Amino acid sequence: MYFIANWKMFGGLNSLNSLHKVVKFFKVFKKNKLIKIIYCPPNILIRPMFKKLRNSKIEIGAQNCHENDNYGAFTGSVNSSMLKSVGAKYVIIGHSENRLSGESNKLINLKIKSALKSGLKVIFCIGETLKEKRKRITKKVLSQQIKQGLSKIKNKSNILIAYEPVWSIGTGLIPKSNELFDIVNFIKIKNSKNKILYGGSVSPKNIKELKSLKNIDGFLIGGASQNPKKFIDIIKKTYN
Ligand code: PGA
Repeated sequence: MYFIANWKMFGGLNSLNSLHKVVKFFKVFKKNKLIKIIYCPPNILIRPMFKKLRNSKIEIGAQNCHENDNYGAFTGSVNSSMLKSVGAKYVIIGHSENRLSGESNKLINLKIKSALKSGLKVIFCIGETLKEKRKRITKKVLSQQIKQGLSKIKNKSNILIAYEPVWSIGTGLIPKSNELFDIVNFIKIKNSKNKILYGGSVSPKNIKELKSLKNIDGFLIGGASQNPKKFIDIIKKTYN
């Protein structure tokens, strides 16, 4: 199971002080379990976090990258090889918060290709909006996002797919169990080599319900991951 913490635009150097709680927990908890914890902080915290977590087996990811492999005149941007050089092993690409500010499937495809080329693993986010859900075109939207996002990528083994319904992110709402199971299966059938994660309002309160869906390979956790106690709670409850 994957537990990926997406910190979004949260945190400063002092936010790293409480990470030792997660490190301590994970040291004992990971025995006999196939479990991965990945922290995706804002770029400025990747290096200090990498140093803090160095001996812990907790890995680091970034939240986005530029599509260009080389250095270039792109003010404010960072590419995947730069992220790798400071300690990231993963990168989230296609998050709905970035799709909403204009990222197209085509751009997402270029970013994924560039990240894979740099040797990063990709957490590829897909999901429908509330409007699309109401129109009952969820599967069509997801198919399109996958088809265009992963276009001309032959080796998909370093890609995790995170299904994140846009209407569920940060709202406290999660899909109905039967609907979520069905959608995850739908994604899995088409992408049998990829791990499929769920993201959107995952919390200690709803994790029991979510973990009962046996086809989910892990969770992408936003708000709740910023609090070590809640994050640990989610992981613990997934296993008992
Ligand atoms: P949330 O965010 O858990 O705060 O809903 C999830 C995400 O955006 O990845």
